[in-house]
Amino acid sequence: MIQSIFEAVISAPEKGHLADYIPALANQSKNLFAVYIIDEKGEVLSFGDFKDVLTLQSISKVMSFMVAADHLGIDQVLEKVDVEPTGDPFNSIVRLEVAEKGKPFNPMINAGAITVASLLPGNTVEARVKSVTDFISQVTGREHSVNYKVFQSEMETAYRNRAIANYLKANDYLRGTVEEALETYLQLCSIELTTEDLAKLGLFIATDGLLLTENKNLITRKTARFSKALMMTCGLYNASGKYAATIGIPMKSGVSGGVLCTVQNGQIEHLQGRMGIGVFSPMIDEIGNSVKGMDFLQKISEHYNLSVF
Ligand code: GLU
Repeated sequence: MIQSIFEAVISAPEKGHLADYIPALANQSKNLFAVYIIDEKGEVLSFGDFKDVLTLQSISKVMSFMVAADHLGIDQVLEKVDVEPTGDPFNSIVRLEVAEKGKPFNPMINAGAITVASLLPGNTVEARVKSVTDFISQVTGREHSVNYKVFQSEMETAYRNRAIANYLKANDYLRGTVEEALETYLQLCSIELTTEDLAKLGLFIATDGLLLTENKNLITRKTARFSKALMMTCGLYNASGKYAATIGIPMKSGVSGGVLCTVQNGQIEHLQGRMGIGVFSPMIDEIGNSVKGMDFLQKISEHYNLSVF
């Protein structure tokens, strides 16, 4: 059945657009579509080119939150960023001006993520980015690095993100300089990985931070719980409520067309229990979510009854 869902989605007419506001992403091939699903026993279902490389983009917001929260403790992170959904686009500035003290609403929008990037362990951009690539590597079992072409391309067009960082600095939410926070955030967005890696990260969150291959906890259960709640309520930009209702699993998307999903308990063909799902298809809708990715997830959630609600 899942095979026929994949085939129906891949053969549907192309809709959406590439994330062409980042020039380096405007050249991606439009018709890529890959899926990787892994359960807690290591059983796998995969479709398409799941080893194709994508950049994390907004999905990095989950990883940097986990690293910062475990480094400083959740309470200290919450002094600088809330955990409330906004319903605004990811790069919106409006609430930094009108909300009380300009505190960023949550770590899944740019204002919150730029703040969190500045709180990562280390005193340089390199050290802060490395804290996240090292963390991801522990989960995926391989090295990860920044795609500097994508990073440069983002820096050249980071007008809104720079404005957001300036507001944050003016209101005393950033550690270090505006440029350091901006560079760290955009390098995190430019970390490369595959759909398979996304699924492994999804499984890791489903296990509340237990690295199954080593039977070792990398983050606290509290950090994992906060991450899942943030993904469910704020993970899909200003369509998060809609997808909580129609899909009902914690997810985080990025404008490169990737989606990371974490299934607490379910059965998909011979896979069962806790699962991670990675999906990648670069054509995104006007909100920023992968068109084919969300279509596929909606169909499998319905068919396999994956919603937590
Ligand atoms: N690099 C992107 C930006 O801040 C992240 C976009 C995203 O995936 O939401 O513009």
